[in-house]
Order: sequence, then structure tokens, then C-alpha cells
Amino acid sequence: MALAFDEFGRPFIILREQEKKTRLRGLDAQKANIAAGKAVARILRTSLGPKGMDKMLQSPDGDVTITNDGATILEQMDVDNQIAKLMVELSCSQDYEIGDGTTGVVVMAGALLEQAEKLLERGIHPLRVAEGYEMASRIAFDHLERISQKFEFSADNIEPLVQTCMTTLSSKIVNRCKRALAEIAVKAVLAVADLERKDVNLDLIKVEGKVGGKLEDTELIYGIVVDKDMSHPQMPKRIEDAKIAILTCPFEPPKPKTKHKVDIDTVQKFQTLRDQEQKYFDEMVQKCKDVGATLVICQWGFDDEANHLLMHRNLPAVRWVGGVELELIAIATGGRIVPRFQELSPEKLGKAGLVREKSFGTTKDRMLYIEQCANSRAVTIFIRGGNKMMIEETKRSLHDALCVARNLIRNNSIVYGGGSVEISCSIAVETAADRHPGVEQVFVDFGACSCKNYAIPSDCFFVVQYAIRSFADALEAVPLALAENSGLPPIDTLTAVKAQQVKESNPHCGIDCNDVGMNDMKEQNVFETLIGKQQQILLATQVVKMILKIDDVISPSEY
Ligand code: ADP
Repeated sequence: MALAFDEFGRPFIILREQEKKTRLRGLDAQKANIAAGKAVARILRTSLGPKGMDKMLQSPDGDVTITNDGATILEQMDVDNQIAKLMVELSCSQDYEIGDGTTGVVVMAGALLEQAEKLLERGIHPLRVAEGYEMASRIAFDHLERISQKFEFSADNIEPLVQTCMTTLSSKIVNRCKRALAEIAVKAVLAVADLERKDVNLDLIKVEGKVGGKLEDTELIYGIVVDKDMSHPQMPKRIEDAKIAILTCPFEPPKPKTKHKVDIDTVQKFQTLRDQEQKYFDEMVQKCKDVGATLVICQWGFDDEANHLLMHRNLPAVRWVGGVELELIAIATGGRIVPRFQELSPEKLGKAGLVREKSFGTTKDRMLYIEQCANSRAVTIFIRGGNKMMIEETKRSLHDALCVARNLIRNNSIVYGGGSVEISCSIAVETAADRHPGVEQVFVDFGACSCKNYAIPSDCFFVVQYAIRSFADALEAVPLALAENSGLPPIDTLTAVKAQQVKESNPHCGIDCNDVGMNDMKEQNVFETLIGKQQQILLATQVVKMILKIDDVISPSEY
């Protein structure tokens, strides 16, 4: 597409190979976009909440993923519609920023689009809808702040944090062990957290998994677990008070490069070369020993001959350790990564109280545990489970729980879940719609705008109010989906809970998904973080506004 100007300076658009493009304009474009967004939201809707269903996704190479994590479902779905991709990005943004609430945000955006479609059909201009949504989102945002509660915890009293992580895990496949996993997540986060600065570096938490055992065997290790073993089976399996040399340089004699040529035409020459290489490597091993290293961890490999020599010289070694793992090992053991062999020195060695090799199953599956490290601020969550899919899903669920604990350390405000906040915000937005001071201002703006494609209703004063009310209706999508997924009659349940909230002035009434017998989410201990909920509303509104503002879609035709 190109923008050109005629001789009078009037712009016009040139569509190259016009017959190969399809173009949708105005209301048609908006409707098509809304339909695409809604379709994505519909897929995730059934996965919301503790009774949400899981999705099974098969990749082109046959890998199967079973999950109910919104971001993962959307990431793995092969979406080729651009608007649908926006919804995928929406979920990913929530995941990136908050880590939890990735399904909820898409369901909310889908509901906002659905309501917007109705407004457009009634002839309301999309910009008015966007404006109304913006106002309503700000009302909801502030209301969330008002009904949020501070929630106290300390390193000695981790129970409140555990409860919140349990809410996150209760909607996942792993909810059978939610208590144990929530405790692991909270302890891991507290181990790496800086409570004074209210900062948590999740990179220091390594999540490792191994098929076998049961989910209950998942453990938190104050140290690093690496999926590697000692390079030689006869090397010691247990090293106490290890001094570790962490190398990112090759640990072997220099090899001739392809452009060099070495002529070896006699046995003696070969023998000399071999002795030379051996001597060189011997010196390397001696250097490690001289600086006091009792274990070498190396990013590169070394050949079998070198390996044999290491075993003989009694210097245990681990090869092919990944870069990220090396960094973690360096942080945990207080060592320095050594990029050039000549730079190896005693103060660069990492220190660990115990390095041990542990074997699993009946195969030669072994892992290296580096524990009692000098700096305990790096931990590993080691997941066990019946199959690979279970381990992958547990990793994803734990990621959500870790993020929730981190968010609470950053900001310890919470709101109650189970759809209660959405209902409460919906009531607040509805009430505010009647008396919002911005309405008159919008009315003035509205008079000035040219809405040629859209019929302006005679009672345009109420146009923005319509949009604000529609936003309130859209907020109810989350409790409706929660009720529907739990097998409850959605509309009846929602109406009853809403009436109860108004009657009792209690914003904590939500959907009793687990059939506990009461719907006060405060008593059920169903929490969510305030920043997570606020982010959901902001992101969903932003994306919907963006979709509504598109009025021309030019895309290559299929033929
Ligand atoms: P997301 O990926 O958006 O976090 P989930 O599938 O984890 O989606 O569902 C989260 C929703 O389920 C939240 O609205 C939360 O309040 C609700 N929820 C979680 N546990 C319960 C529970 N025990 N009872 C009622 N609602 C719950």
C-alpha cells in the first residue's frame, strides 16, 4: 500500500496488485475484528477458574501440551488473524507484567468486545465507546484500590502468602498438591527476596524437573540442581567443602583449526604430538589443583582422553553445563566465571558445602546437586511427576504461584477472587455512570466531532453512559464464566450474588465454585493481588480500544 498525491495535493491510496487484496472498511472492519477477538476469548472462557477445563495442544512435530494457562494456550495455538494475535499478546503482556490472570484478562477483553459490538449496532461511534470504556476502567481501577486490603506477612509468618498462592494453584491441574507447592513457591521467593527493597529476582529461582516419582516428591533445594553428571563414572559422587572452578573456556589442549595443516608422517611425530598435548593438559589440571579447585565445572566439553586423565589426577569435572546454569552456580557459590584459563585464581573459586550426584530411575539418569552454597540466594525447585506433560504444566503453574508471591512482596494489597471484585466493580461502575462528572464534558466534545459513518442517536447525552454501563456488564463475564464452568446456572447465580453484595454491602461475595456452602471469598481465603487485577482491567481496556479504532483492514487475499 502506498500513499500518493495528485497534482492538486490531494492524497490517495494506491493498493498494489489490488485484485490480490481484500479490504474491509468502517463498521464491517470493526465487526470482523470484534468477531476474531471474541473467538479467541471464547476458547479460553471454559478454562477459567478452579473448575476450568484444560486444553490439549499438539505441535506440528507431535509434542503434546495439556494446560489451562491462558498465555500458554494462546502462545501454542497457531493464530494467523492479526486481531487474534493482539489477544495473544494481551495474555502474554499480563504474563510478563504480573504472571497470573492470563485467562481472566482475555475473557474480560472478549466481553468488552461483545458489549462494544452491541453498541456499534445501535449506531454509536466507536470512539465514544472507547471513551466510555476508558472512563469506566478508571472508575473500576480506583474502586479496586478502595476495596483492597493490606495483608500482613513476614518471613516468620508466611501463611497469608501461602494462602494466596493456593488460590492461584487451585485452578490448575496440580491442585491436588496445592498446599505443598504453594509452600515451596513462597519459601523459594522469600529465599531470593530482598524484603527491605521489596524486590524479588525470580531469575535466581531455577525450576528443574525430572520424570518419575510423584508430584508430592517435588522439593525445594537451597542450592542448584543441574541436569548433568560427573564426566567419568569413576569420579567421586560426593564432594564435601567443594572449591569449584567455573570455566567458560575450553578445558583441553588447543586443537588445530581446519585451516591449519599438520603433517605427521612417522610414528615418532605422532607420539611427540600426543605427549605434547598430554603435557599441556597435565599442566592445565595442575593449574586447577594449584589454585585449590576440587571440582571443575565447564561450559565446554573435553575428549575422552582428557576425561581419563582428569579421573587419574583425581580432579572431578562436569562438562557441557549451560550458560544460564553456570551463571546461577557462580551466584550461588560466590565464585567467578573464568573466561580465560590463565585467569584462574584461588579467589575466583566458588564454594559449596556439598556437591553430590544423585541417580534416578533404572536408567543412567543422574543429576548434580550443589548445596550449602556460600551465597544461599539461589534456589532450585525440583519437580517430580509421572510424565513430561505433568512436569511442564507444574512448571507453568509454579511460575504463576511464584509471580503471585513476588507481586505481594512488591505490593501487599489484595482483593478477593471468585468473581467478587468484578461484581463489586460492576456495581461501582454502574452507579458512577449516572453521576459521572465527565459526561457533560464528553457531550460538548461529542457535538464537535464528525461522525459521518455513524448515526448519532438523538439522546447523545447518554451515549458515553451507555458505554460505561456496557463496561459494567462486561465485568460480569468473569463471574458468569466461573459459575458456568462450575456447573452452576450462570445468570441466576450472578443475580443472587450481586443482590447479596448490594444488600449486605459486602464486596467479598463471589461465586462458590467449589461448593463449599458459603460464598464469602474472604472466609474461603480466595485472594488475588490488587496489582494483578488492576493490570487485567487496564490491559483489556487498552486492547479493546485499539481494536475499536481500526476502521480499515487491508490484507492479502487468499487467492
Ligand atoms: P487465570 O489464568 O486468569 O489466573 P485461572 O484459571 O487461574 O485463570 O482462574 C482464576 C480465577 O478463578 C480468578 O478469578 C479466581 O478468583 C478464581 N478462583 C480461583 N480459585 C477459586 C475458588 N476456590 N473459588 C472461587 N473462585 C476461584
